[in-house]
Order: sequence, then C-alpha cells, then structure tokens
Amino acid sequence: MNLILLGAPGAGKGTQAEILCERLNIPTISTGNMIREALKSGTEMGLKAKAFIEAGQLVPDEVVIGIVDERLRQDDCKNGFILDGFPRTIPQAEALDRMGVTIDRVVDINVPDEVIARRVSGRRVCLDCGNTYHIETKKPHVDGVCDRCGSTLVQRKDDQPETVQERLSVYHAQTEPLRDYYAAAGKLLVMDGQMDIQEIAEKTLEQLKA
Ligand code: ADP
Ligand code: AMP
Repeated sequence: MNLILLGAPGAGKGTQAEILCERLNIPTISTGNMIREALKSGTEMGLKAKAFIEAGQLVPDEVVIGIVDERLRQDDCKNGFILDGFPRTIPQAEALDRMGVTIDRVVDINVPDEVIARRVSGRRVCLDCGNTYHIETKKPHVDGVCDRCGSTLVQRKDDQPETVQERLSVYHAQTEPLRDYYAAAGKLLVMDGQMDIQEIAEKTLEQLKA
C-alpha cells in the first residue's frame, strides 16, 4: 500500500503516520524529519534548507524531490510506504508521478486553521527519532522524554505563532490544490482531523480496506 498523508502543518500527519506505519508494517517517509536530520548533521542540503524552514517557507521543489526519489528506491519501500509531508506542491506531485510509483490512496486530514494554532503550540518533538507529542493530548510517559528512544523532547523553532501563520498561508496557496489533484485521480480519502487520534487511525484503516 503506497499512501500519502495530506493536511495543514499540525493537522496530525506525523501522529497518524506513527500508528499506520506500525499497523501496516511499511516505512514512513517524512520529508520534514529528513530535512531536520540533514540540518542537525550540517549537510549541504541541510544548510540550504535552514532559512526556508525557519521562515515557514517550503524548501525548493528540486531539493525535496531529489531526497524523496532517492529514498523511494531503497529496498524497504518495495512493499509500500507512507509519505508524510510530501508532496506539498503540484510540481512535487507531478514529479512523483514521473518517478513511476503508483499511489493507492491519499488521506487528507482536515483541521480548521484556528485549531492548528493550539495544536502546534503544544507540540513537542523528538529530534532523534521524529516522534511527535502534545503537552495535553498526547503526553509522553515521562515529561520531556521520548517514549520510543529516550531522547529529550523539544519545541520546534518553526512552531512559533508568527511562523505558523506563514506556514498556514503557504499551505493554502501551494498544498491545498493537491486535494483537487488527487480527488480528480479518484484517490482522495477525507478524514475529520478533529476526532480522537486513535479514532482517526481506525477509520482510516477501515477505509483503506474498503
Ligand atoms: P503534522 O505532522 O501534520 O504537522 P503532528 O502529527 O505533529 O502534525 O500533530 C500536531 C500536534 O497535534 C502534535 O502535538 C500532536 O500530538 C497533536 N495532535 C495530532 N493529532 C491530534 C488529534 N487528533 N487530536 C488532538 N491533538 C492531535
Ligand atoms: P514538517 O515537519 O512536515 O512540518 O516540515 C517542516 C518544514 O520542512 C516545512 O515547513 C518546509 O520548510 C520543509 N518541508 C518539508 N517537506 C517539504 C516538502 N515536501 N516541500 C518543501 N518543503 C518541505
């Protein structure tokens, strides 16, 4: 099963990817996590991406397309994958089509802008394994410590309110048109992202079987 998770920043893509990847036994490819990883290791790509991320802008298409193309060629993607945060523009979706991969379903997680602000202000992430938490709705077992790998949880720099507003307007301008792109291809599955985390995952899994 080749899946795409679509939605505004903070809609819950990473959270759902974490559950779905375990249940479906396929890897998650999170471009956001890959870029943050590159930034942390100080690679050339990371350095190029830094200013864009911090300003709430998208990293240029050719950079992101390159990293996804390389990642999808790895063996663990042969039985399926979950794309979290890619594609985010029409040119990225077209590039994915050109890579020759067939996308089975695109899950669009719908959350209104006013809820997003509350979500991201409470978001805490593990910079080592990419797991995502929330100080109210998805607390780690031990405050400030990742359940999965034991690393320290941090607040992302781009989760500051001004940057979030910019990310939301970028989402509406550049990413939201992908809904129509995938609806036209008959692949779009729309989920109410305001339901409970587990409920969204169960409903998604049910729909994927249908
Ligand atoms: P995205 O990957 O789409 O940017 P995340 O998965 O990081 O979003 O979710 C954003 C924040 O909202 C996180 O702190 C997460 O724990 C929380 N969250 C995700 N889904 C839900 C939900 N259904 N209800 C309440 N909080 C949620
Ligand atoms: P995320 O963790 O998915 O919220 O992504 C964090 C940031 O990484 C985004 O705000 C962008 O700057 C960059 N990024 C992640 N995925 C993409 C993508 N597909 N295209 C362009 N930029 C991206």
